[in-house]
Amino acid sequence: MSFNTNDFRDIDPGQRVLMGPGPSDVPARVLQAMSAPCIGHLDPTFLSIMDETQRLLRFLFQTENGLTIPVSGTGSAGMETCFVNLVEPGDEVVVCVNGVFGTRMSDIVNRLGATLIRVDAEWGKTIDPEDVRKAVQGKNPKLLAVVHAETSTGVCQPLEDLANIARECGALFLVDTVTSLGGIEVALDKMGIDAVYSGTQKCLSCPPGLSPISFSPAAMKALENRKSPVVSWYLDMSMVSSYWGAERKYHHTAPINMIYGLREALRIIAEEGLDARFARHQLNHTALVAGVEAMGLSMLVQEGERLPMLNAIRIPGGADDLKVRKALLNDLGMEIGGGLGDLAGKIWRVGLMGHSSCRRNVFLFLSGLETMLKFQGVKVREGALEAASSVYA
Ligand SMILES: *Cc1c(COP(=O)(O)O)cnc(C)c1O
Repeated sequence: MSFNTNDFRDIDPGQRVLMGPGPSDVPARVLQAMSAPCIGHLDPTFLSIMDETQRLLRFLFQTENGLTIPVSGTGSAGMETCFVNLVEPGDEVVVCVNGVFGTRMSDIVNRLGATLIRVDAEWGKTIDPEDVRKAVQGKNPKLLAVVHAETSTGVCQPLEDLANIARECGALFLVDTVTSLGGIEVALDKMGIDAVYSGTQKCLSCPPGLSPISFSPAAMKALENRKSPVVSWYLDMSMVSSYWGAERKYHHTAPINMIYGLREALRIIAEEGLDARFARHQLNHTALVAGVEAMGLSMLVQEGERLPMLNAIRIPGGADDLKVRKALLNDLGMEIGGGLGDLAGKIWRVGLMGHSSCRRNVFLFLSGLETMLKFQGVKVREGALEAASSVYA
């Protein structure tokens, strides 16, 4: 096998507007931080960067939890971390499923040899706490797991009732906050969440590669009291926590420059302030929905259950899903997502996550979509930009 080194040009993807289900646009400051020199994973300078990253993560998760760290891997690695550490073969585990990511959690529970108690809701709807209450009757679940922000549908799951059910039946409460963290409130201690995982490339606007997690004292106790060792060596938090804790014991080489990036992304969030950041996500979402509905299109999720960072829009009759997305990418450099599973070809998923949640992107998307739809001969009403403007006014 031979090749000419000229075959391999510099990487130059050009500018994009990332308005899909993740990754979101990464601020220049984060990319710049990632290009700082790579140093040793036990270098005192790096150790203090780790400590600062943990402090910033505790601020974002609003928690005092000691074990609050970024797992080396994407959001799915964080998901697997929570289950492999907290679940043992034979445990009963309740998983709420109303989209792709609840389905993925069930898959992991089955692989671990646990007993899955699955509570389903229609995709696009929230989980009904009454269904969970019925499912746990006479059972003794170790864990109750739910997705806060179901990125496949745009549904925001209220957590309060589910947290109460978990407490009543003595189960740990595990929440997927991959898409919610940094866009809506995720206050672990106040909300009674025992285990949580997230991802860097959604509302934190950092490249993919790390998964922030946090375990409450009750979750730590469950880990300590295991009868069998954690089946994954790499994701075993009883070992990884010794590197992030006072011992600084080598486990695996931390992805140094990724952690630089995360620290910078968290610093940007702290500078903006959590309330201001959540309000910004809400405002841009409201403007986008106003514009979409003014065009005569409709949202998949009913009002009051919608996520501000992921907008699922029903594809209107006569529109060609793929052609619209291709045109947005080729003409505007804009990425939006299509539907998954049964919703493929039925919805567009428009992300307004982190750095991507801004007025410019709302107007760019609305004008782009209106143009593409008219070009395809789909009837759309006038006034989308005016409707969005009036939200900002
Ligand atoms: C993106 C996402 C994941 C998976 O994260 P990866 O970084 O793709 O591994 C899990 N849960 C939710 C809700 C997500 O949106």
